[in-house]
Amino acid sequence: MDEADSGSGRVVLITGAASGIGEAAAHAFAGRGWTVALGDVDEERLRSTEEAIREAGGSAAGIAVDVRDRSSVDGLVSAVIHRFGGLDAVCPNAGIGFAERPFEQTAEDVDALLEVNLRGVIYLLLAAVPHVREGGAIVITASTSGLLAHEGGAIYAATKIALIGLGRSLAIELAPRSIRVNMVCPGAVNTPMIRSVWGSEDEARRALDEYAQGNPLGRFAEPEDVARAIVFLASPGARHITGVSLRVDGGDGLMGAV
Ligand code: NAD
Repeated sequence: MDEADSGSGRVVLITGAASGIGEAAAHAFAGRGWTVALGDVDEERLRSTEEAIREAGGSAAGIAVDVRDRSSVDGLVSAVIHRFGGLDAVCPNAGIGFAERPFEQTAEDVDALLEVNLRGVIYLLLAAVPHVREGGAIVITASTSGLLAHEGGAIYAATKIALIGLGRSLAIELAPRSIRVNMVCPGAVNTPMIRSVWGSEDEARRALDEYAQGNPLGRFAEPEDVARAIVFLASPGARHITGVSLRVDGGDGLMGAV
C-alpha cells in the first residue's frame, strides 16, 4: 500500500454505514487502518457492522443517528469529536431509493426523499465541516441519476444533482483549508436498496442481470466497487482531486450526456 493511502491515525465518519455501500466503505477504510465512526438509523445492523469490523482487527464505533433530525446529527458529530478529537474524512452516504413510477409521487414520498437524501447530507456537513482537519476530505454519495436522465426517478434524481451542486460549491469554499470535496456517482449497485425496488430476490437477480447485459463492462457493481472509489477519494493520495463527480458505473454514463 502506498503510504499516502494508509489510513493509520486517520478518522472517517460514514453515514448509512450499516448496509450496502456504507457498510462496504466502512470495512474498506478499516482494512486500510482508518478509525471508522459509523452512523445509521438501523441500530441492530449498526452493531453487527461495528462488531464485524472489530472482529477483523479494525477500529470502529457505531453511533445511532437519524439524518433527518438536526439534533440527532449534531449529537453524532459531537460524540465522534468527543471520542476521536477530529475528522480526516466525512462520507455522507445515508440515502433512500425509490420505486420507479411516473411523476405522481405523494407528498410523503417527496418529503422522505428530500429529508434523507438532501437535507440529511446538508445537516451532516454543517455539523462536521468545522471539525475536518486540514488536508481532509469529504466524499458524498450521489448517483448517476444526478448526471443522467432516469425515467421514473425524477425526485431521486433531483436530490442527487443537488448533492453534486452542494459538493462543487463546498469544494471551492473549503479549498483554502486544503479540504477536498468529491462525489461518487454509482450506477446500479447490488445492495438492499436496489433489491427492495424489485420485491423478491429472484426478480432482483433477473433485473440486475438484465442491467448487466446493457452495461459496457457487462456487469453491475457490488458495494465494494463503490467503496474502493470512496476510500481513494478520501485518501491523501487523491490530494489534487476536488469537485469531481466520479462515475462508478461500468461505463453507463458514456452512453448518456455526462
Ligand atoms: P442501503 O439501503 O443498503 O443502505 C442505506 C443505509 O442508509 C441503510 O443502512 C439505512 O438504514 C441508512 N439510512 C436510511 N435512512 C436513514 C436515516 N434517516 N438516518 C440514518 N441512516 C439512514 O442502500 P445503498 O444502496 O448502500 O445506498 C447508499 C447510498 O448510495 C445512498 O445515498 C444511495 O442513494 C446511493 N446509491 C445507491 C445506488 C444503488 O444502486 N444501490 C446507486 C446510486 C447511488
